[in-house]
Amino acid sequence: MQTEQSSYRKKRYLVYGIASLILFTFPFIKIHGNQIFLLSFDHKQLHLLGTVFDIQEFYLMPFLLIMLFVGIFFITTLAGRMWCGWACPQTIFRVMYRDLLQTKIFGLRKRISNKQEKMDLSSPIAKIKAVLAFLIIAVLCLLAAANLMFFFTPPGEFFAYITDPLNHRILMGFWLGFGCFFILDITFIRENFCIYMCPYCRVQSVLYDNDTIMPIYNYYRGGMVYDTKGVKNPLAPQKQNPQNECTNCNQCVRVCPTHIDIRKGMQLECINCLECADACASVMGKLGKKSLVTWRSSASLEKNEKVKIVRFKTIGYVIILALVFALLFIVGSKKETMLLNINRTTELYEIRSHHVVDNNYIMLFHNTDTQDHMMYFEILDGKGESIAHLLEIVTPKEPFKVKAGKKNRQVVRIATKESLEKGDHDIIIRAFAVDAKDQVFVERKTKFIYPDTKLLKD
Ligand code: SF4
Ligand code: SF4
Repeated sequence: MQTEQSSYRKKRYLVYGIASLILFTFPFIKIHGNQIFLLSFDHKQLHLLGTVFDIQEFYLMPFLLIMLFVGIFFITTLAGRMWCGWACPQTIFRVMYRDLLQTKIFGLRKRISNKQEKMDLSSPIAKIKAVLAFLIIAVLCLLAAANLMFFFTPPGEFFAYITDPLNHRILMGFWLGFGCFFILDITFIRENFCIYMCPYCRVQSVLYDNDTIMPIYNYYRGGMVYDTKGVKNPLAPQKQNPQNECTNCNQCVRVCPTHIDIRKGMQLECINCLECADACASVMGKLGKKSLVTWRSSASLEKNEKVKIVRFKTIGYVIILALVFALLFIVGSKKETMLLNINRTTELYEIRSHHVVDNNYIMLFHNTDTQDHMMYFEILDGKGESIAHLLEIVTPKEPFKVKAGKKNRQVVRIATKESLEKGDHDIIIRAFAVDAKDQVFVERKTKFIYPDTKLLKD
């Protein structure tokens, strides 16, 4: 029974370690020189799995947001507040501060199994230890805030910016702002954040159903401690009926970080840490019995059957996630290798002698590739056929260099070689890298205006 006793806590610590490792190393892992995820407001870029998307390609964001929300709905419907107890930085840092620093290292609290007990700060040594614990967690909180910033500012740039704080006040403000809030949250607000401030806590109950897995007290075995209205029975379970297994030791209540009694049923405050299940496993283990608090669904308890993981709702969420992921993949793989913006100048056209008409444009060539390129363009008709015999590029005459990730603005003049029909003609500008014409290119539609022939000069 000893194995069952500490099983959830040990597993949780392992998950904390893995989650922290992933979060801290993620911004430093690069694919093709780009981060796995970076939303840079500075460079107006999104890095996703090593691919760089410009701000004009942010059409991917809705897919990511849909995946994030559907993913949250799916996990919550399936396993309740699994995230809160097992991977949320708030919980991980609270465990580090309260259980590791204050309890295990500095001995300010007697035991992890009693989170209701106040710290003993009566001696000067205890006060010094408390300050030390605070300073250690404060440094860790600032590191965590920096880690959060790495998803918005590449780590290399972040370290360079903080050496010149006066010229990077916004970044410093965000970093220190997040850091100070995190310190305040971990040391002062504590689990009140999970209960009163976290928006996820508010929506979870809407997403729960009878098959959602959560910590559940088995009142069939243990006996009713609270009635259906949540009023506590004045008699302890075994006084109500000697067959009831709950010894009313209150270990499950003392160990709870949010100070609730799981025997009352599902409560908004429960962060799914399963400390109560471990505590009861220890008590019941000594009596040769299994824990009265287990991680299962209310339907499985009522019907005394296995938890139903595959059900209509969960299948639906998986299908939606798969569809959105497939769409994201398809749309993401169609990413253009360069970008082109075409604007008309205020002067739509210019009439020259011998029926020659010029049209002027401002074109912005954006090299989204990781290499510099010489760029140029050609003119096609609306069907994509060359019309070099009808229209010619007057300026620019030669290809021009666009550095990797940079933009180049060109004033473009296109002139007729022959008379055209009066009106707006659909044309396509096919811009390309001269050295990789078929790999790095983009096509944009625009119009060429040919005025009324009465206006034309001979
Ligand atoms: S009742 Fe308390 S100890 Fe049990 S899982 Fe919920 S938060 Fe954790
Ligand atoms: S730890 Fe188990 S036996 Fe003790 S009060 Fe809680 S449910 Fe009852």
